[in-house]
Amino acid sequence: MEKRFQIGNREFVLDQTKAEEAYAAKRIINGRQTMTFNLLPLKYQWAYELYRNMKANHWEPEDIPMAKDIEQWRGNDLSDVERWIIRMGIGYFSAAEGIVGDNIQHVVRELVTAPELKLVLGRHAHEENIHADSLLYMISSLGINPHECEAMFEDVPTILRKNEFVSRVSRELRRDMDLSQTREKQALARNIFVFGQCMEGTQFYGLFGMILSLYRQNKFPGIGQMFRYTLRDESNHIELLRNLLVELIRENPDVWTDEFQQELVNLMKEAVQLEKEFINDCLPVNAVGLSGEEFAEYIDYIADRRLENVGLPLLNEGVKNPFPWLAEMMDIKKEQNFFEGTVTEWHSLHRGTGAGVTLADHGGGRFDRDHTAVRGFVIACARPHIQNALGVAQGVHDQLVNARVRPTRGRIPNADTLIDLVWGVQSLLL
Ligand code: FE
Ligand code: MN
Repeated sequence: MEKRFQIGNREFVLDQTKAEEAYAAKRIINGRQTMTFNLLPLKYQWAYELYRNMKANHWEPEDIPMAKDIEQWRGNDLSDVERWIIRMGIGYFSAAEGIVGDNIQHVVRELVTAPELKLVLGRHAHEENIHADSLLYMISSLGINPHECEAMFEDVPTILRKNEFVSRVSRELRRDMDLSQTREKQALARNIFVFGQCMEGTQFYGLFGMILSLYRQNKFPGIGQMFRYTLRDESNHIELLRNLLVELIRENPDVWTDEFQQELVNLMKEAVQLEKEFINDCLPVNAVGLSGEEFAEYIDYIADRRLENVGLPLLNEGVKNPFPWLAEMMDIKKEQNFFEGTVTEWHSLHRGTGAGVTLADHGGGRFDRDHTAVRGFVIACARPHIQNALGVAQGVHDQLVNARVRPTRGRIPNADTLIDLVWGVQSLLL
């Protein structure tokens, strides 16, 4: 008998008996190992959907102009603290991204068995490559000595400790694992928790916050933009590893003992402590708009969100987010604008499937409808002049962000204003 499967707008016809067999044999771990990479029928629908989302967010570092960053880096207007944050950011992330990608590829992707999980984890590893490459682009643009960055990873004690914290749960898994044993399953669950919730989910956020604080003050617009794209990717990675952990526990309830839960909470406690020490190194004195105490509180807040999402008890019940503007700025899904579209969405737009962005909370239906058409036109005009267009767009974009994060300075532009802006940019280009 035949069965029809619908995935998005695609339809597949499968032999029902074989499909049911394949479906039943799919597991997070200890499922049927097959050479045929049988994605269908999908058992972990969320994994395939995440893969599609991740793909739609594709970006390349070189699409982001760095002229302003270079000018600021060479100029005299920056404080020492601001330069130091950029150095720490580049130093830490240029190695950290690779460490995550390596663990995803050589530990997690090796051990899971369902092909749709391997698919999305492959994309995850690739995104870490893009992130690592973006750091290279920053290093070369600013003319920073790459050996200095490497040295930071070996010489700055707070970076060393953060590294040691994650590599110990990765190193111990690089061998033949007997995943029929609860202890071994717990080792994998621990790895997924530490990388997804502690490292990408919490320990990345101190620097993310600092760099976006600078970006908000119009410092390092190119670097800030790359970090925003990185952050958008990271939220998918956090969700992916969170779902993976939750499903692994659901299928293997023996993993989820009280002791094990306590162990994970303790690991998060350790991660938070290490991150606070690291923040002190990055921000030895408070600077304009940057307070060390607030960043520490922010980390407490973020860590509790991660614990909450995997059903573990909180460390600081009731702690508030000291940076509500940061949540806004990080959430580019909601305030995606046309010009960002030129960078991250022209691939999908050219295939005619680029209508995924909704800005309903900006301006309602009219905006959604016009949005795709106008953006397509701008892209067509702007492609030969993409660097110029992006320069102009950056200014428009900053205004939008400012309007959103500092509502007292102006109301959020509505759809019509946005469209006017786009036509303005377009006439500049012609
Ligand atoms: Fe990353
Ligand atoms: Mn990541």
